[in-house]
Formats: sequence, C-alpha cells, structure tokens
Amino acid sequence: MKIGIIGAGLGGLLSGAILSKEHSITIYEKLPFVGGRFTNIPYKGFQLTTGALHMIPHGNEGYLAQTLRRAGSNVKIVNSEPDGYFRINGKNHEYKDIFGLVSAKDKLKALKLAASLKLGKIDKNMPFGEFLEDIPLALDVGNSFSGWALSLNAYDTPMSEIIEISKLYHKFGGPGIPVGGCKGVIDSLVEIINKNGGKIYTSHAIEKIEVEENNVFLDSEQFDIVISNASPKLTEKMSNIKFIEKEPVPSKGIKINVASKLSLVDGASVIFTTDCERINGLNQPSNVDRSLAKEDYNLIMLHATQIKNNTKEEISLALNDIESLFGGKDYEVISIQSYGNGWPVNHASNGTDLNPIVKDNLLLVGDGVKGVGGIEVEGVAMSVIAVLNHIEKLKK
Ligand SMILES: Cc1cc2nc3c(=O)[nH]c(=O)nc-3n(C[C@H](O)[C@H](O)[C@H](O)COP(=O)(O)OP(=O)(O)OC[C@H]3O[C@@H](n4cnc5c(N)ncnc54)[C@H](O)[C@@H]3O)c2cc1C
Repeated sequence: MKIGIIGAGLGGLLSGAILSKEHSITIYEKLPFVGGRFTNIPYKGFQLTTGALHMIPHGNEGYLAQTLRRAGSNVKIVNSEPDGYFRINGKNHEYKDIFGLVSAKDKLKALKLAASLKLGKIDKNMPFGEFLEDIPLALDVGNSFSGWALSLNAYDTPMSEIIEISKLYHKFGGPGIPVGGCKGVIDSLVEIINKNGGKIYTSHAIEKIEVEENNVFLDSEQFDIVISNASPKLTEKMSNIKFIEKEPVPSKGIKINVASKLSLVDGASVIFTTDCERINGLNQPSNVDRSLAKEDYNLIMLHATQIKNNTKEEISLALNDIESLFGGKDYEVISIQSYGNGWPVNHASNGTDLNPIVKDNLLLVGDGVKGVGGIEVEGVAMSVIAVLNHIEKLKK
C-alpha cells in the first residue's frame, strides 16, 4: 500500500518504521527537524529537549520499548532502580515506605481505599484527587505523580486512567532513560525508515487532506491510507471531514533545566516532590548517558504542571520551589521552557483522548489518541499499535 504520514514526531516515525517494511511510506514534517516533542536540543554543552524529560514511562518492558523492538530499533533503555523516590518533608522515601509514614487513622482509611479499588467498587469517573483527599499525604503523593507523569493536577485526572496506569505499572514496571536521550530513539527510527526505502521530507507542511472513498489526497499526492501524527484538532481542520465530537483538552507544563557539578538525583530514578508548590518531580538523565551534560556537570530536569494561565507567575513559583529544593547547593538554571496549546505536554490530557481510527483510510497516531492508561510516549505507542492492528485487519 502507499501510505502517507503527516508529521515526523515519535508517533509518525514509529508507525513509519514498522510499516516501511511492507509498504511504500512517505512522511511529511512541517518543521526543519524530525522528532517533534521527543528530540534533543543541544544547548551550552547540554542535550536539552523539544519536550520530554528523556524518560520512557515503562522503561525497557513497556509498549514503547516493545514497539521499538518490533520496528528493529536497537536503542538501549536503562531502567530506573528503584522506580522513584517521593520527597516528603525534605527527605526521599521509596513508594513502599510511604505507608509507614501515615498515622494509624490514615492507615485504616488507606486500607479501605485499597480494598474498594481491588473490589472494583470505585466510580471510574471520580477524580483521582477526590479519591485520595481524606488522606492528606496520599493526596500530595498522588498529585506529584499525576503532575509529573500526566502534567495534570490529581483533581483533573479520572480514576479510570489511574486504574489502567496501575495495571500497566504492575505489568511493565517503572521508567527508563534511553541512551542518547530522546534523540537516541528518533535516530534509530529514521535509520530504519531510510534503510527500508521510506521517504521523509522536512520543512514540508501538509495543508489539505481530501478523504475519498478509496483514496486520500495530501495536497495533490494520492495515497491508499493516511496516518496523521498532527493533533486531532489540526487534522480535522485540514480535512474535508468532521470527526471530533468532544474536543480533547491539552495538558500544559513548564520544564526547567538545571546544571550542577553536584549529583542531585540517583541513577535513572525520578524524585516526586510532594512538598513543592508547583514542581512535581525531577530526574537526572545524565546519570544514564554522560553525553547529555557538559563535562563535569549533571543535567537535572524538573517538571511542573501549569495550573494557572499566567505563565510568568507559574514559572516564578516553580523557581521558588527549586530554590527550596537545592538552596545552598551550587546549581544553575540553564533554561526554562513552557508548553501550552500549540506545543503542549499532551494534545489530549489523559481521559480526553480520541479514537485513533477515524475512517479505514484516515488514521491518527500520537498523544491526542493515546489508549486508556497510556502515559505520554507509552500512550503514543498504544496509538501506533491500534493503527497497525487496524491496517492488518484491512489486509484480510
Ligand atoms: C515538558 C514536557 C515533558 C515531557 N516529558 C515526557 C517524558 O519524560 N516522557 C514521555 O514519555 N513523554 C513526555 N512528554 C510527552 C511527549 O513528549 C509527547 O507525548 C510525545 O513526544 C508526542 O509525540 P507525538 O508524535 O504525538 O507528537 P509530536 O512530537 O508533536 O509530533 C507531531 C509532528 O507533526 C508535525 N506536524 C503537525 N502538523 C503538520 C502538518 N500540517 N504537516 C506536516 N507536519 C506536521 C509537527 O511539527 C510534529 O513534528 C513530555 C512533553 C513535554 C512538553
């Protein structure tokens, strides 16, 4: 089949790499570079990123890692050990030790919540924050997790997502960092597409998608199937069909990159910061790949969910948090990046994703169509798997 792909973000390249084994693939990317929000930006000797925190939510076992292997990518993903720490009252604790920190009364409440979850006696539409709010420490822990992993306040996160996320966590485990950072993943996919004879055109924006019964036209080029890695909203705007019934809600965030000669985080782990006003967590990806930081320095990435629209104020609150985390230590803020509507953390915040199958010949991949429980790039991989399964079905 002749398949056209709009966008060379992770979703477009991952589907393109796998489909290029059997099909004729052409990828159009409007920017002068590939990788979208999952690639590196060299800056002052550090490998910063266009978006992600150089982190793969379920590490070397998750859906992204599996789909990369299916494509033939040999990028190495180093799993974190332990999965993460929660910073509570200035001290780092592993998740398994948090239960020991709450009062006897709250322990009882926590056991009741765990039992109702296990028995499935939970309203799946209930916000995660509401589920946790009777236990203040649990709410802080939940909020730092949903803020780091989904760029959502716990009150904006539906329990349906949390239930699936916890199932996937038990199946695949916690996060990992790819060697080479985000670009390590992207380079490996581009190499596969080139080797398989697929074409990638950068600085080439698609403006019009014309869906017909048996063909789809991208501007004037004819394809059997089109896969769009542009957001669902942009895809609909370009196309001659309407398919969005309920608009996805983007999630917004702020990322602050810090350089320090002193190591501030262990290994590939995340520190979830329960006691910060805005910062939800931090990692130090240069622990896995020294080339991500300038010689003798560590690269620390901190993430904050953007809660209010005033970005300047949100940044100032996040910087206050950083001073409370590292005050007295020798550190330097090297850049601050904010992510809003056009270039958000996720085109659809978890719980507002659309279906990747619009029509047999118009399919969507990316973070506007993640599967339920799909954290960030794991959700992107889930959308790619759904699209590949659909194309397989069409062949029969
Ligand atoms: C601050 C921040 C931190 C994050 N941290 C993590 C993390 O640590 N781990 C994680 O898993 N995820 C993380 N994410 C999320 C992750 O980066 C995204 O979910 C993922 O990169 C989205 O990939 P995508 O392929 O869906 O979209 P994109 O990367 O946006 O790719 C879509 C591509 O389509 C192109 N395009 C759009 N319209 C057109 C057109 N008309 N013609 C041609 N091309 C077009 C765009 O230019 C873009 O390159 C983070 C995101 C942010 C912003």
